[in-house]
Amino acid sequence: MTEIAFIGLGHMGLPMAKNLLKVGHSVKGYDLVPEAMRAFVEVGGVSGQDIPSTVKGADVVITMLPEGKHVKAAYEGPNGIFGHTTPDALIAECSTIDMETSRYIHKEAEKRSLRLIDAPVSGGVAGAEAATLTFMIGGEEEHFKALHPFLEMMGKTIIYCGGPGLGQAAKICNNLVLGITMIGVSEAFNLSEKLELDKHKFFEVASQSSAQCWSISKYCPVPGPVPTSPANRDYAAGFTAAMMTKDLKLAAQASQMTNVSSPLGEEALALYTLFCNNGGQRLDFSGIIQFLKGQ
Ligand code: NAD
Repeated sequence: MTEIAFIGLGHMGLPMAKNLLKVGHSVKGYDLVPEAMRAFVEVGGVSGQDIPSTVKGADVVITMLPEGKHVKAAYEGPNGIFGHTTPDALIAECSTIDMETSRYIHKEAEKRSLRLIDAPVSGGVAGAEAATLTFMIGGEEEHFKALHPFLEMMGKTIIYCGGPGLGQAAKICNNLVLGITMIGVSEAFNLSEKLELDKHKFFEVASQSSAQCWSISKYCPVPGPVPTSPANRDYAAGFTAAMMTKDLKLAAQASQMTNVSSPLGEEALALYTLFCNNGGQRLDFSGIIQFLKGQ
């Protein structure tokens, strides 16, 4: 039995840890929020007191934290993961964070001869619960191969993207496309409605023609055509508009860092920010269709 340490037991971390428990691993977890710890213990997890006691002796360490600053805080300092992980442990950093922090964490791990990969995910809470997440991996291929069996217990599609930070690069670029396409699809549905075109007819055409994309065929922002999409439950998230805004900020940051022009990314970031500031923060990001309508 492998000893696994899991740091960050929020919306994503808890169901991911649960899937590791399901296959019989011993999982010790830690979260700053007592409620998250209680939920973790309820599903059979072992409660850690702090980061040092949680990662001590673990064969595998997994982190699932909100942002780069939380990742830095959890890894560094006298009570950080770096200072207390056993040298032969494998580490998967699964949070979606900025490129700079991701590469910094890789460098710090390398200095200490620790085996770390960046492994951000897509698929949301539903994917975490069903163990169907997509993992995008950056780091040494050898470390990736050693961690593959554990990632497989939490996900379905696991793609090695290249060196340190390139898992994050894939995630950031993927969500740049997603944020922009959802706005495009929303504008088209709003226009088709004004033109008195039935939404089911427009869906039938667009989902089978050159407009086809995930934002139409799997996550349609109007109720009806795709029964599982958040539009059918008043845009309950799902993937919140706040998360999308965060990911578009990461894309904007990366674009600036590399001198890449991304006018649609910037515009999408401005629109999701406005949507959040007008009450959309906790709603699913596809709810932007209502905001664009002026509702
Ligand atoms: P969340 O806020 O629900 O959970 C993060 C948890 O980390 C919180 O419970 C928080 O208390 C804990 N935490 C923060 N600092 C800590 C520390 N130093 N030690 C221990 N615990 C600490 O966030 P989430 O929705 O689970 O998302 C986690 C990451 O996954 C984010 O980077 C997010 O962008 C990414 N992601 C989320 C989704 C989604 O649909 N929610 C989908 C794909 C990727």
